[in-house]
Amino acid sequence: MANSDDKEVNKDSRQGRSRFSALENELAWTRFAFELEEKLGTLQDNEVILQTFSDHLKNRLGYDYLEISLQGNASCDIQPGDWVRNDTGYGGKLLSIILSPEFLHGLRWRRRPMVVDLQDPNPLVKNPELLRVMEVNSGILVPMCLGNCSHGVMKLFFHDHIEFEAEAQKWLLTSAAILYRSLRRSSQYLKAQKMATIDGLTGLYNRRYIMEQLAKEFVRSRRYRNWLSLIIVDIDYFKHYNDTNGHLAGDRVLKRVALAIRDSVREIDLVARWGGEEFVLLLPEINGENGMIVAEKIRREVESQRFKNERKQPNHNLTISLGVAQNSTDIKNHIDMFNRADAALYRAKLEGRNRCVFAK
Ligand code: GH3
Ligand code: MG
Ligand code: MG
Repeated sequence: MANSDDKEVNKDSRQGRSRFSALENELAWTRFAFELEEKLGTLQDNEVILQTFSDHLKNRLGYDYLEISLQGNASCDIQPGDWVRNDTGYGGKLLSIILSPEFLHGLRWRRRPMVVDLQDPNPLVKNPELLRVMEVNSGILVPMCLGNCSHGVMKLFFHDHIEFEAEAQKWLLTSAAILYRSLRRSSQYLKAQKMATIDGLTGLYNRRYIMEQLAKEFVRSRRYRNWLSLIIVDIDYFKHYNDTNGHLAGDRVLKRVALAIRDSVREIDLVARWGGEEFVLLLPEINGENGMIVAEKIRREVESQRFKNERKQPNHNLTISLGVAQNSTDIKNHIDMFNRADAALYRAKLEGRNRCVFAK
């Protein structure tokens, strides 16, 4: 039988052990968060970020179901819909755990995780039958907080009965914040990258992008012996239009001409604003003859559209001139092809404007 001194010793060592394991736990979570930051830090694709996050969390917690739902106010979007990893063996990926409107309503200001009580008569989860099908016995909802509000929720569910200690809840909150920050950073990066290829006024590709694509498409067309056509479009007497109607009216014309061009070509054709009142079209697998047909269709479309004050133009109509080139065997490279289309456009201007000319 142990005396009272022995009891004191046992109590001390028990406390020491539990303090030690608490410290160990804290250390494991710190390492987890540090590694998570490191893993997600350089990723630029939302899908890869989510996959990496879910793997890392799975290693730490061994959850059976993970769902990431972002709020409308989130400054990044995951397409399509929410992101789900369902390892329960039931249900699949297309199902989503629906949260009560009360929870979602307050989510923006929620700063702490909420443990899902499966016996609660006012459940947080609106489709509890799904939880039964998936045979989950515990779950936790973790808001994705950054700044003063939350931008989404991470839903975690387990087959096992799990006690979510305060320590674990704190670190789950940290993990969700790390994830949200990474998703937002990658979305902003993609947006900036896209903006660098788009012309701000017309929404068409910009000059740099179309030149890169022309170089690529030209090489590809040679390798696979495919046709490729290039069209350069220039608005006739546009300086006159600006001088007569003002720069803003000129901008409106640019937008409408851009739309008329985009609407006249296929989805796979590339259309760019080259600069000023000039546009460039790249038509893969289209020979010069068909390129001329496309050019003529665009010319007629602009000619038939009515623009404000166009009667005051030198030719009493707002029109465009077009130069068309194809990747004939005598063309050396993409620059040569561009110059031929440009020379054809110059001839269209000399011959009276409002016409399409095929490059020699
Ligand atoms: P041409 O028939 O020979 O092509 O004559 P043009 O007047 O169209 O050609 P020019 O190159 O002399 O003038 C182009 C004009 O395009 C000059 C400028 O006023 C106008 N322009 C260029 N960029 C913009 C823009 O972003 N917005 C507006 N509104 N006008 C622009
Ligand atoms: Mg011009
Ligand atoms: Mg012009």
